[in-house]
Amino acid sequence: MKRLLSFAWLVVGGAVGCLLMSGCQRSTTHARTDLTQRPISVTCTTGLLADLVSQVGGSRVQVTALMGPGIDPHQYRPSAGDQARLHQADLIIYHGLHLEGKMVDVLERLGQRQPSKQKVVAVASFIPTDLLRPASEGFEGTYDPHFWFDVTLWMRAAAGLRDTLIELDPAHTDHYRQQSAAYLAKLEQLHQEVQAKVQTIPPPQRVLITAHDAFYYFGQRYGLEVRGLQGISTASETSTRDVQALAKFIRERRIRTIFAETSVPEQHLRALLQAVGGEVRLSPVPLYSDALGELGTPADNYLGMIRHNVDTIVAGLRP
Ligand code: ZN
Repeated sequence: MKRLLSFAWLVVGGAVGCLLMSGCQRSTTHARTDLTQRPISVTCTTGLLADLVSQVGGSRVQVTALMGPGIDPHQYRPSAGDQARLHQADLIIYHGLHLEGKMVDVLERLGQRQPSKQKVVAVASFIPTDLLRPASEGFEGTYDPHFWFDVTLWMRAAAGLRDTLIELDPAHTDHYRQQSAAYLAKLEQLHQEVQAKVQTIPPPQRVLITAHDAFYYFGQRYGLEVRGLQGISTASETSTRDVQALAKFIRERRIRTIFAETSVPEQHLRALLQAVGGEVRLSPVPLYSDALGELGTPADNYLGMIRHNVDTIVAGLRP
């Protein structure tokens, strides 16, 4: 697969990261110089971002993801090896909007370093704030970070990333334009496919219940009512009252299937199933919410992950 050729997914252990430290120091000094002669070294926080960068950058980027499959970005704390991988990159791409809730300080410090050794960019900065969902009360000025589930917003992220790469490496402008145009066409096709598949679910059944509130943008764009047991962050608490309220909603709406997520433990959903009684089941296949699938599976990239989710949702909700 072409994608795999250009996608150096280097999730290496902390010890190796430390061994590389001396090399890292050196490459930091030379960062952003002479990018015409070598690929751009890009460190991304999540696997989703690593996939996006490798799609848009192609052979011009060497991409490292700090978080592998199944890792919850809300809870992730960077290791010493991660610090090295961040420092050695020419370009750091993170999601932003506090998705990486426990990395905010580290990422902000890197962005404020003077003189700046590398470019540090949040893909959330490519999305106009009026297209983002404001977070709930108590968190004014913050937004729901899960916008990748609206494929049209991920297209904006791809276009913003293209412009970032061109700015960093203008000698290869045509390359980035071609790469991004090809990928944007695939995303447009995916968007239409998701729309068509959701339409096959009878309207009263278009209710998506998941472990945490990650699917608002998906529901908003494709016409499903969405409820998460936990809030926007998996760090939020779930009370007995939350479980009872959602159980009541599920009974009243006669919802038959609820969905687990690969990056969130199922224990709270089990409590919810118990509270509802025998009328509801857990989908035998979980959704990918905040992390891609294992490398080598169909969901190890964005296109496959979205297809997996929509097929799983349709199979679960259609009578
Ligand atoms: Zn999340």
